[in-house]
Amino acid sequence: MTTGQKIVDTVRVSINGQEVWVEEGITVLQAAREAAIYIPALCFWPGLQPVGEVEPDESIYRAGEVIENDGVGGEVQGCQLCLVEVEGEADLLTSCTTKVADGMVVWTDTDRVQKKRRENLLHLLTATAHPSICLTCDRAVGCPPFSLCVRSARVPNRCVYCPKYRDCELYDAAAHIGIMNVTVPYTPANLPIVKDQPFFVRDYNLCIGCLRCVRICREVRGVDALGFVFRDGKVVVGTKAPTFDESVCEFCGACVDACPCSALYAKSEKWKRAEQVITTTCPFCGVGCQMEVGVLKKHIVRVRGENTNTPNDGQLCVKGRFSLSFAESQDRLKAPLVRKGGELVPASWEEALALVAEKLPQYKGNNFALISSAKCTNEENYLAQKFGRLVMETNNIDHCARLCHASTVAALGAAFGSGAMTNSIEEIRDAGCILVIGSNTTEEHPVIALKIKEAKRRGAKLIVANPRWIDLCSLADIWLRHKPGSDVSLVLGMCQVIIKEKLLDVDFIKERCEGFEEFENSLHTFLLEEAASKAGLEASSIREAALLYAENSPSSIIYSMGITQHSHGTDNILSLANLAMLTGNVGRPSTGINPLRGQNNVQGACDMGALPEFFPGYQAAQDASTRKKFEDAWGRSLPAQEGLTVVEMFDAILEGKVKALYIIGENPYLSEPDGTRVVKALEKLDFLVVQDIFPSETARLAHVVLPAASALEKEGTFTNTERRVQRVRRVLDPAGESRPDGEIICEIAKRMGGEGFSYSSPSEIMDEVSRLVPIYGGISYERLDKAGLQWPCPDASHPGTSYLHRDQFSRGKGKFHVVDCRPSVELPDEEYPFLLTTGRGPFHFQTGTMTRRVAGLNQLRSEELLEISPEDARALGIGKGEIVEVSSRRGKVNVKARVTDRSPQGVVFMTFHFAEPATNVLTNPALDPVAKIPEFKVCAVKLSKIAK
Ligand code: SF4
Repeated sequence: MTTGQKIVDTVRVSINGQEVWVEEGITVLQAAREAAIYIPALCFWPGLQPVGEVEPDESIYRAGEVIENDGVGGEVQGCQLCLVEVEGEADLLTSCTTKVADGMVVWTDTDRVQKKRRENLLHLLTATAHPSICLTCDRAVGCPPFSLCVRSARVPNRCVYCPKYRDCELYDAAAHIGIMNVTVPYTPANLPIVKDQPFFVRDYNLCIGCLRCVRICREVRGVDALGFVFRDGKVVVGTKAPTFDESVCEFCGACVDACPCSALYAKSEKWKRAEQVITTTCPFCGVGCQMEVGVLKKHIVRVRGENTNTPNDGQLCVKGRFSLSFAESQDRLKAPLVRKGGELVPASWEEALALVAEKLPQYKGNNFALISSAKCTNEENYLAQKFGRLVMETNNIDHCARLCHASTVAALGAAFGSGAMTNSIEEIRDAGCILVIGSNTTEEHPVIALKIKEAKRRGAKLIVANPRWIDLCSLADIWLRHKPGSDVSLVLGMCQVIIKEKLLDVDFIKERCEGFEEFENSLHTFLLEEAASKAGLEASSIREAALLYAENSPSSIIYSMGITQHSHGTDNILSLANLAMLTGNVGRPSTGINPLRGQNNVQGACDMGALPEFFPGYQAAQDASTRKKFEDAWGRSLPAQEGLTVVEMFDAILEGKVKALYIIGENPYLSEPDGTRVVKALEKLDFLVVQDIFPSETARLAHVVLPAASALEKEGTFTNTERRVQRVRRVLDPAGESRPDGEIICEIAKRMGGEGFSYSSPSEIMDEVSRLVPIYGGISYERLDKAGLQWPCPDASHPGTSYLHRDQFSRGKGKFHVVDCRPSVELPDEEYPFLLTTGRGPFHFQTGTMTRRVAGLNQLRSEELLEISPEDARALGIGKGEIVEVSSRRGKVNVKARVTDRSPQGVVFMTFHFAEPATNVLTNPALDPVAKIPEFKVCAVKLSKIAK
């Protein structure tokens, strides 16, 4: 294990007479900010290359449709406001480019500095034609004197005409420099205000040409949607494509956050000032971005990425930045519902809880099953499995990890001894080579994709293996467009090349691994050409990828559900583990095997034992000594019988074995494969309790619906994909009468006579977890309040573990596995000639329960689409937007066609975000025999155009 602590050299600097100790190599501007000393800087922004005195590299602004800068819309040189005096230097220096030195003496606000800043800012405002309303509010053209202005009077010294309203760096700079009462001559540009997309407004009349928006889009996001463009006879900053619809914009809002004035502002934030800002963890994907949420009168009015913390360094995606409004949707479940006379009707908490507590005891043991939730906190998942095991006396406890990363837990556990991401998100940027396989990272884990793009900019090689074209293909050194389901052939082919070309790390294999000889022998009869043909690739492409991976260490493997959701998902990951061990690419920074978890707390729900086979902390449920440990702690005997996985639960319901089901925060109606079978099972239950924040499709079938508080309405922790445990904080009051899931579970448990469910706070639950779960041994709220901690964190003095398996694997030696190339269970044939593969899109999340309540996201993507290749569309006479019937052996749906060469010939793609149509009616419930994960990624379908 490694500590994750960085050793840094520090230097002593004096700023305005204040002595500060700072990291060597940082700039004077950074040092001043660390010491809370303000220096105005309008072209500087964290993550961007400082511009300083020189014009930035013009190639940044002149790619694509960028028009030559003729000075009309703004000038590209730095703002020159961050000037400082450094003793011993004759000239003023730009603090954004000047590095600190030991003993340096800096003065930030001398008369000479301020005079020069005034000149520079006046020049900037004049050159960019920025209206001076804000800077000279009582003299602005068309405005009454400040003292008579109704709007301004509400905020002393500030004109609220400005939509950013006291969140304007230009205003702050002008005030600091002292030009508030100076009239700046300008000629209004009279540019149209653009509101052509859902989340923000662009008013380039206010643009000061700092290009922070253009640069962040290019330098940090790697998207390059913006530039200087020619519109309406003027040169302005804008989208390179004529409209946002046609542009490559991802709507992440980074440009809006970087804008120092009001040229770009979020529609939802106009004229709103947060009373309180609370740091919490994003409730969507497993990246676990830290965010600052501003609240005004109990409503969310502002969201920003948190800048000082990993994993996201201030960045968010469209969901985190603009979509927390789901929590304030009118559709929220606000009171319990109880089924009476066939209808769900509102009930009191007392009535609903009494009914649940009366009914559930009848199903104790294996007539009961519980589906916990990757959207709930660690503490709530701990309580859910404790309730299932202790009160309901069953190990029939599972959650959606079974549908996304059960094969990861099984395979990495078998090969390395730990089923989690081996390395950290921030290490990705330093990799020498990255193999991204089965992950559409820019759409599914957007902030991790930024690290991949950064690594590429720093010179890393990028191998993308994906049957579909994804955005990362445009950056890849090689794109392997292999057939869906042929990953084992591809990866074993790479292994064979590495062995043949003697690129393996012999010492690492000898000292750290076992089972190599059997694995090597198994490849003797393995023909690269045959593997290539199975994968639909040239052997030379596999060889090229193998060489890139082996020769550019540290090499990192990143994968997601394109690898796991197969009937041979475990084999896919075992092959990747073999590949990493062959080249010694495990146990070092920027290497490893990095499964990207889908939901916000799917890692934590696994850690907390919401799995039939494990107690919390991956302690085997079938192990008698583990059981004894938890029996001693919880004070009662615990069930020894093996529990059912999620998919098996539905089989058991149909067989009449499971009669009561308690579902927390999941929507199996849409998320399970072979949806028709699932609906039949749900309808067959004697008693179904659904606890959720919205009336999901599943909730509509329940006997009792319990309204839960959202992640923004409660305290707790989530564990992100890199094993980082982070605080979740209450930002809003629970909607209506909803309650945190943990409180509801405890209340039901207590009513059923369960002991050990009286906690005074979620922090007390975490204390119990840390006593029972060695990898969480050193985790407490007190420590998490400062920053997240990565497990293993065995004791209170341990700083957490940034990468696993440093000196030895968690299981001792890393184990090579012999793996066969098994085909997917259902491949295209004459009757069902197309292969359907499924995945997520960028604008919705999981089954859409949260994101489909966000109007802006619906504007960006309002319906399911069938991606079909132009060749197939032509052959079937299907045009863009026409309705196609898609049928498999399990069901059929109608869906609009999207004709695109993102999908190869013979392969069609759909997401599973929509209820109409429910894609999973089509998918195959065939299971991986080890991990019991269903084969979402491959099933055979036929297509027919619906006549108009
Ligand atoms: Fe939230 Fe994931 Fe987007 Fe980060 S990348 S803002 S965690 S959805």
